[in-house]
Amino acid sequence: MTRPIYMDHSATTPVDPEVFNEMIPYFTDRFGNASSIHLYGQDARRAIDKARAQVAHLINAAPQEIIFTSGGTEADNQAIVSYMLANQNKGNHLITSAIEHHAVLETCEHLAKQGFELTVLPVTPEGMVEADVLQKALKPASRLVSIMHANNEVGTIQDIKELASISHAAGAVFHTDAVQSMGKLPIDVKAMGIDMLSASSHKIYGPKGVGCLFIRKGIRLPSLLHGGGQERKLRAGTENVPAIVGFGKACELAEQHMAERAEKLEKLAHRLREGILTTIPNTRLTGHPSQRLPGSVSVCFQFVEGESILLMLDSFGIMASSGSACTSGSLDPSHVLLALGLPHEIAHGSLRLTLGKDNTAEDVDKVLEVLPGIIATLRKMSPLCN
Ligand SMILES: *Cc1c(COP(=O)(O)O)cnc(C)c1O
Repeated sequence: MTRPIYMDHSATTPVDPEVFNEMIPYFTDRFGNASSIHLYGQDARRAIDKARAQVAHLINAAPQEIIFTSGGTEADNQAIVSYMLANQNKGNHLITSAIEHHAVLETCEHLAKQGFELTVLPVTPEGMVEADVLQKALKPASRLVSIMHANNEVGTIQDIKELASISHAAGAVFHTDAVQSMGKLPIDVKAMGIDMLSASSHKIYGPKGVGCLFIRKGIRLPSLLHGGGQERKLRAGTENVPAIVGFGKACELAEQHMAERAEKLEKLAHRLREGILTTIPNTRLTGHPSQRLPGSVSVCFQFVEGESILLMLDSFGIMASSGSACTSGSLDPSHVLLALGLPHEIAHGSLRLTLGKDNTAEDVDKVLEVLPGIIATLRKMSPLCN
């Protein structure tokens, strides 16, 4: 059998062997509870402290500004829910964008059902949140603005510094879901004016089930979970020490290799994008043409169904994803594709190929070899074409 080709790195990534090695002792010999006073407890505490410093360094935060969570989803929930609950006496309006990950969007909608006022900002056809659109949505009751750094489906990167500065001028705090960008793009929370930032380990070659929330010093944020006093009383529950150690190591490696990985991914993605667009007619790129995540290729093929493309690619050992119908268990294309203003019939044929550090030029060539035939076959079968 030919080697499988994995091009779904925005969904998850494999654990880097260096990360895994770092984690192993914390499952076995070094199993202490970081809250214990004894030798083993102290050892676990030191491991967590080291990881916290590694994560903080990657985004120019102070270690005390990082709390570990069970992942990006929990960090998003805590930032949005806890901040709004704690500050509702000063105003109950929050703002987000139409292309957020469900972990943000559904959390905001949950608050809206509880009586908070929610504004969901539209985006441009390239997926950008425009400064003046945010400006107009802000009002004295606005407490929180949550806009993602890089989009997981179409790769568009927002101008976070500008959006944060506009939010601050109106008296709101700024949260960003940086799950797709942390470790891949330079982030400086201070220079960018970020008040809260969510990140996740498994998108950057760390283990699943761990992430973090950066909370700028001075921001008061209660815990979402109640119980023990872990994470300075901001996140109750015994720390997942092996996972936290792995996340720390993944951050250190991401920082070390960021520039070189980005350059490689950009080259491969360029080759893949251009190859697709020049060999397959009636195809369009989704997302921003230049302001995009390194290694992210997202396209729509007219007259075909995204899920069928995925199944045929899978039969060639190529793993990708789609924002089209069915894959999400729903009949509608993803909220992101619709927010870009793509008509249903085009959004239905979406394909997302997200490259990772271990993909090669041969992987790209293999996709370029089989994809035109797949699309041609599906179009021949499509009632929309005839
Ligand atoms: C994957 C992802 C999340 C969820 O993170 P988990 O750690 O899987 O909970 C949130 N936001 C974005 C943009 C993501 O890509």
